[in-house]
Amino acid sequence: MAYTTRGATASVVEATALWLVVLFASVTAHELSHSVVAMRLGLKVRDIVLLPIGGVSEIEGMDTSPQVESRVAIAGPLMSVAIGVICLVLALAVGSSVWPPTLSASDWLVRIGWLNLALAAFNLIPALPMDGGRVLRSLLARFGDAGRATRVAAGLAAVLGIGMIVVGVKYDIFLVLIGAFVIAGAGQEWRTARVRSALQALHVGNLMYPDHTTVPASVSAAELASWLRHFPGRAIPVVDEGNRYFGIASLGEVSTAPPGYTVGSCCDRRAPVLVPDMAVYPTALQAFNNAQRHELAVSANGQIVGVLYLPTVSQALARAAS
Ligand SMILES: [Zn+2]
Repeated sequence: MAYTTRGATASVVEATALWLVVLFASVTAHELSHSVVAMRLGLKVRDIVLLPIGGVSEIEGMDTSPQVESRVAIAGPLMSVAIGVICLVLALAVGSSVWPPTLSASDWLVRIGWLNLALAAFNLIPALPMDGGRVLRSLLARFGDAGRATRVAAGLAAVLGIGMIVVGVKYDIFLVLIGAFVIAGAGQEWRTARVRSALQALHVGNLMYPDHTTVPASVSAAELASWLRHFPGRAIPVVDEGNRYFGIASLGEVSTAPPGYTVGSCCDRRAPVLVPDMAVYPTALQAFNNAQRHELAVSANGQIVGVLYLPTVSQALARAAS
């Protein structure tokens, strides 16, 4: 008897492990489909976070255009539907019964088929941040402005999330967790949309520190360092002999340069230069992020007109978000 029990336990463990592998693979296929379409449309995929209820692909520039967003969003559920339908058709072909829907059929093709269809259906719930919510938002955005579309989609998501919690408390604790996840995600989308519309009017020229001061690349690093010590936090655009933008230098860069170095040899030459009518969000913010520094030069018609400092941008972001 004891032996039989051990045998049964082992097979339960095996089946559970196999089920987890299937779940993981199904969610991964769904997320990879989002990522592949996103990359094909020229978006950068930063990371894929796998959750048991489906993954979350962190895609940069998700707000590029409604058409792009809906195509990326629908790619995941379409992949899940495709896998689900193929598995069920194969199951039918080998004579398995596929109806009614079940996740505990003895035939694994039937299980995997319904799991993927469930994954598609669940992700298509029209609540941000689910795929269905993104599709809804992009549909709304085609008929109005993106900010309003997000507010409507996020509002609907909050209502659905509350509904899930109410129903979940009565029937299934898992639904309560999903409801909380949906409400938190919708709140995040709503705040992002509010900040975005507040920032839409802000340009680099509004926030930059207007200053035409530049330093020639041939000046010694030590000389610039002793000058910059009087102006904590300041950075100076560096220009070449033709007065063209060459790079940017802050105290950190010039004070650590070996003796005899020029400003040109130790300044940050990879830092991009901004223009006054460039949008602060997201363009300038992305430039700061890519350059990994807190100061960027601003140039108009080939002339340096100022420096934009990241703390100024952060303060403007905070004001817009409050
Ligand atoms: Zn998805």
